[in-house]
Amino acid sequence: MDNLDAAMVNEVDSVTRSSNTGTEAGEQAKQVLIRASEASRERWKEAAARQGTSMSEFVREAADRAASEALDCTHGNLRIYPWRHICMDCGATTWQK
Ligand SMILES: [Zn+2]
Repeated sequence: MDNLDAAMVNEVDSVTRSSNTGTEAGEQAKQVLIRASEASRERWKEAAARQGTSMSEFVREAADRAASEALDCTHGNLRIYPWRHICMDCGATTWQK
């Protein structure tokens, strides 16, 4: 993780850096190009630096979290108790007295 890496979120990830993209071994990383305002880019860069990670990794993790919220369990299998509602698929408590 260096400053150059943090500055390259919208630059090409070379195949040689694929071990740093969260992909499985042997899986080639795909490039994602995004445009962001200078203000957003600076905030992401600063937040990544504060967490001791690269901006690329910071953006990947944020996107993975958002994708998980959008795609994973939507609590369609709730068990309803008078004091608590529990998702039988993911175990989340969606309501508690
Ligand atoms: Zn759930």
